[in-house]
Amino acid sequence: MSTVKQQIEALREELREHNYNYYVLDNATISDYEFDIKLKQLQELEANHPEFFDANSPTQRVGGAITKNFETVAHEYRMYSLDNSYSKEDLQDWEKRIKKLVDGHVQYTCELKYDGASISLTYENGLFQKAVTRGDGFQGDDVTANVKTIKSVPLQLKGDYPPKFDIRGEIVLPFEGFNKMNEERIEIGEEPYRNPRNTASGSLKLQDSAEVAKRPLECLLYNIIGDNLGIKSQFESLEKARQWGFKVPEAAKLVNSIDEVLGFIEYWDTHRHGLPYETDGVVVKVNDLQQQEELGYTAKSPRWAMAYKFKAEQVSTRLNSIVYQVGRTGAITPVANLEPVELAGTTVKRASLHNADQIEKLDIRVGDEVFVEKGGEIIPKILGVDLTKRPIDIQPTQYITHCPECGTELVRQEGEAQHYCPNYNGCKPQIIGRIQHYISRKAMDIEGLGGETVALLVNEGLIYNYSDLYELTKEQVIPLERMAEKSAENLIQGIEQSKNIPFERVLYALGIRYVGETVAKKLAKHYKSVDELASASPEDLVSVDEIGVKIAESVHAFFISEENKNILNRLKYFGVQLEMSVEELEGKTNILEGQSIVVSGVFESISRNELKKLIEDNGGKVSSSISSKTSYIVAGDNMGPSKKEKAEALGIDIINEYEFLQKLN
Ligand code: AMP
Ligand code: ZN
Repeated sequence: MSTVKQQIEALREELREHNYNYYVLDNATISDYEFDIKLKQLQELEANHPEFFDANSPTQRVGGAITKNFETVAHEYRMYSLDNSYSKEDLQDWEKRIKKLVDGHVQYTCELKYDGASISLTYENGLFQKAVTRGDGFQGDDVTANVKTIKSVPLQLKGDYPPKFDIRGEIVLPFEGFNKMNEERIEIGEEPYRNPRNTASGSLKLQDSAEVAKRPLECLLYNIIGDNLGIKSQFESLEKARQWGFKVPEAAKLVNSIDEVLGFIEYWDTHRHGLPYETDGVVVKVNDLQQQEELGYTAKSPRWAMAYKFKAEQVSTRLNSIVYQVGRTGAITPVANLEPVELAGTTVKRASLHNADQIEKLDIRVGDEVFVEKGGEIIPKILGVDLTKRPIDIQPTQYITHCPECGTELVRQEGEAQHYCPNYNGCKPQIIGRIQHYISRKAMDIEGLGGETVALLVNEGLIYNYSDLYELTKEQVIPLERMAEKSAENLIQGIEQSKNIPFERVLYALGIRYVGETVAKKLAKHYKSVDELASASPEDLVSVDEIGVKIAESVHAFFISEENKNILNRLKYFGVQLEMSVEELEGKTNILEGQSIVVSGVFESISRNELKKLIEDNGGKVSSSISSKTSYIVAGDNMGPSKKEKAEALGIDIINEYEFLQKLN
């Protein structure tokens, strides 16, 4: 019989290996199902044996830690920018400068330039320690909890790694995952994300790491930094990093001259369109690290590296018309309909015009020949007008003044670029979008009802708002397009079941502007019922932890609307959960509200998880690291010495489990 510790170790090792095969090598060695079973086994063992807790266990990848403020930390080695070049001549000039400064033959490593968010990872004794964003190059944000959820980031290395080093690379969102995320967003009536790069860097700054865990992010690495690493060249360091378990792109090549560099560039300029990620150029690095050191740095960038930017592909085509779309929130987006044209491997028919200012700035008119570029954005953008081809008789564009859907006069708030249709309860796309949000997976999760059916129901005049869903009958639904007896039954049943969805999700489903999942949870926990929340003044709302003025005003405005009051009364009448249930309320208080508590060590009378749950149930926040914002630490046996030191340095109280339980009584 193996001991529990051995079982845990074996499971961790096995899961780590499967993770590596799947996420780094793209070569699955186990089914998802089997993986989940093993992960559950490990989770259970770990929960029952907190003494074997390991921050780098594969179970820690699912996230859960909440970071409110990302701590700023200094980079041990500065993160530089790269100089840019755009032509063969630029690269040849660069080589001339290099040859003046170093002796001997110069080899170059050519790599692709990935368009994502730069990141620096620190490893000590083969264990993942922290991840920091580039920031201003001298210091960045500690996003460790979020990066830990990215499966291609190894939490424990293999092979003969040095005891301490940093490794740098790029967090990217592959096109496939990006498109999937956008399909889901469109489905629930949200604006799609603009491009993978911004979505990747936005993901790193999400407060809820469990949310990050759900995003298909990847981490590509290309630069090892540290002292006495025993590495002699850039190309060797790529190979080493690969051996230690990092995901290092295969598209890297060692070459002997700028001519060969140009060959690499030429090849990838066309072939990059087949890659799973966004790339915007090539990075050329002097291969020999000794030579790199001789070359050194300018104020902003290394002299030994040069980025070559691919030219974004551009074409010109005719602007046939401008249409105006109305989003769920009432925001108006002008869209250009173009004469179809080939660009970067796809046919382009539409381009975003963003807003009124953009159209005016570029003086874009229907009938113009316009330049279109496909850069980082999935939707191509219009760069300008070919004035030499402008027909003499075309008129400047008049931006619409009224909603194309409902005819209401548009408003534009001071300082905002977008026009809005203020007809919140009477404008069809807004009505449909709001109901689509209500039924979506993270909200009421109504099975058997999809976004298109919602649009049909509204267009047929069967429903006007989400409370009407509960009065729908099978007979009303059957005649709809693509409906059959069975699907109608499922739909009605799905709606019925949504009456069991807990209050915090109902609150999110209501679609109050600025009330996302996290805020909804906060408000539900604090107020416990819609009635309490509805009667809260904006001042009262702001006093809740994490609720700012913007949210408070939006919540207040939502509940004073007569129309919304009416809808809420109907929801209540139909039996939707508008308050926390008895079970949810049991053992819940606000005693610890506003407190950030760190739990450390092993306890006698209670498990670590139970302790954490107690903190959360009583309104407190469990934080994984000690900072000046920590209220106190609940410590059991074996509290880590470094934690203890840090707590003492910051003057933070350390209490034991009994003292903590006392506080709750
Ligand atoms: P820039 O932000 O234009 O100065 O470009 C520098 C950035 O390019 C770096 O901070 C990296 O995030 C990114 N980059 C992408 N791929 C590479 C690569 N293969 N080598 C070095 N930097 C890269
Ligand atoms: Zn409207």
